[in-house]
Amino acid sequence: MAVEPLDDRRFAGYRRKLIEQIRVRGIDDLAILQLFDRVPRHLFVPEGVWPRAYEDAAIPIGYGQTASQPSLQALYLSVLQVTPDDTVLEIGTGSGFLTALLALTADRVYSVERIRELSVRARAVLDQLRINNVALMVGDGTIGWRKYAPFDVIVVSAASPSVPHSFMDQLAEGGRLLIPVGTRKRQELMLLRRDGSEIHEEIIHGACTFVPLLGQFAWASETSEDAT
Ligand code: SAH
Repeated sequence: MAVEPLDDRRFAGYRRKLIEQIRVRGIDDLAILQLFDRVPRHLFVPEGVWPRAYEDAAIPIGYGQTASQPSLQALYLSVLQVTPDDTVLEIGTGSGFLTALLALTADRVYSVERIRELSVRARAVLDQLRINNVALMVGDGTIGWRKYAPFDVIVVSAASPSVPHSFMDQLAEGGRLLIPVGTRKRQELMLLRRDGSEIHEEIIHGACTFVPLLGQFAWASETSEDAT
């Protein structure tokens, strides 16, 4: 796993400003804030949007998808409490930026993306940064990744009409699952924790809007409202 500044320092000043914005939003865990200094977000987005790469905003990455807002990802990390021993499943690799943040925090990250081009691009940047504890797969993430289950942490970066049972089935004892659940237009970010036979549920963030999770156990298509 690569350590130390992962790129040239051209954007270092912008990164500092972004970290300040994340801090203002209430995340003050130093280990998390430092990740945003180490991982150069601009490399994960198309060059045309580099000037916006360090804004605290979602950014279009092509194919109708977006890289999530950094402060929201910082919130993910703070509620998930990822440890160096954890095995993580990420659904929706997208730009690969969160994949990198998770990889620098966990033991191993398994990440599934349905759009091949995005997965290929994410792989190239992760390789460039010498982040080598990540396995990527192209396919329908709503079925999870049974081969490497159970997972200590499951992060879903796309909105689902409900919590697919596959994720609960693949969640380890003490495992945490973060998933936006709701309608196409509006979701709540839910944290579910497995505690023996019980599942504890908590709403971490209300009123967010993610791109839809499309697959067997979520929405069937880009446009239909009905869950499958
Ligand atoms: N964390 C990513 C978020 C990308 S947006 C980032 O910050 O870049 C969510 C991603 O989920 C999109 O790339 C979309 O293609 C992907 N996605 C949607 N449904 C999926 C599914 N069933 N399996 C895998 N990926 C899916």
